[in-house]
Amino acid sequence: MSLWPQYDKWADRFTRALMPTYGVPPVALARGEGCTVWDVDGNAYLDFIAGIAVSSLGHAHPAVVRAVSEQVATIAHTSNLFIHQPEVLLAERLLDLLGHDGRVFFTNSGTEANEAALKLVRRHAASRGATYVVAAEHGFHGRTMGALALTGKAAIREPFGPFGIDVRFVPYGDVAALRDAVTDTCAAVFLEPVQGEAGVVPPPPGYLAAAREVCDATGAVLVLDEVQSGIGRTGAWFAHQREGVVPDVLTLAKGLGGGLPIGACIGLGRFGQVFGTGDHGSTFGGNPVACAAALAVLDTIDKEDLLAHVTKVGEQLADGIAAIQHPLLAGVRGVGLWRAVQLTQPVAARVQAAAKDAGFLVNAVQPDAVRLAPPLIVTADEVRRLVEALPAILDGALVKES
Ligand code: PMP
Repeated sequence: MSLWPQYDKWADRFTRALMPTYGVPPVALARGEGCTVWDVDGNAYLDFIAGIAVSSLGHAHPAVVRAVSEQVATIAHTSNLFIHQPEVLLAERLLDLLGHDGRVFFTNSGTEANEAALKLVRRHAASRGATYVVAAEHGFHGRTMGALALTGKAAIREPFGPFGIDVRFVPYGDVAALRDAVTDTCAAVFLEPVQGEAGVVPPPPGYLAAAREVCDATGAVLVLDEVQSGIGRTGAWFAHQREGVVPDVLTLAKGLGGGLPIGACIGLGRFGQVFGTGDHGSTFGGNPVACAAALAVLDTIDKEDLLAHVTKVGEQLADGIAAIQHPLLAGVRGVGLWRAVQLTQPVAARVQAAAKDAGFLVNAVQPDAVRLAPPLIVTADEVRRLVEALPAILDGALVKES
């Protein structure tokens, strides 16, 4: 079942051995296949969170397994001292999907992709005397010092300041506030096309276009963080393509590697030329095994026509939830296979626990919102199973409250 010895008291051991940054996660996973995962006790769950939009092709997808196995057995690392083919092929492929000229810097995570973007922006800003950055309230860009400075969640940012970077926060989705905040001395605007950690919150139509416009008018760099929204999650390769808005800099990670750690900071057009030799680096960034996995992910999304599938089953999921009548259910929002079940009370943690008991992994992203981000290969039947189970899961959360 698991590759590793069976052990009990895993939660105790986790607590003793690991820094308690994640609390104690509710399930110890041993193995996965497609959209199903098994815990160390052999219980099966349908995975409706995919490691937060990471397992884009589900678990142990044959294309990813093959690509990783072949690459690791061929050359597993070159550092950045030498070129290797998967990195070049992946960069070309991403630029092709974006439909624009540009250049890619590969990282190991979304946070690092945003750090690279921030550094790029600072280099560019120096040439035009720009001094501050605008980001959105409740936005999330990562946990290292630069990415944290951009993160608009006060509770996780404030304890770690000061950051040495002037970030001004605006309410997400408010065009007038954005116009006021972005002046000629603004270096960049960092936005998620749909806010993920805030609870899968799409902006009002036209918001990204307005951001593009205000950046064009002032010279600020438009950075779109598609770490969570990119790679098919919304039914488009990239969420910004749904709006017809082209960023200057784009960051990716999560679903790109289908479970392998890889991120990307992509400078489009002239923003591909900001970094020169010696300006940035990462020993593992662009690792051949991670790049091979990402190439397999992109190929499979293409070959299996998964973008159309995401749109179809995403609508089935949203429509199915919207049709449920339940006192705890306020509605459903989001796009593609990226939805939040909105609750009438702050009981998301209870819904997550009740879902687990019913055999589904979901995520209490906010006190009153449960995030669903299943693998892009989730079937109509698997979606139907969750929708059918949801009323009883919500009942379970109600019962636990009384
Ligand atoms: N940006 C966004 C929009 C994210 O959702 C996340 C992760 N939740 C990050 C950045 C950070 O990515 P990572 O955890 O890979 O560093």
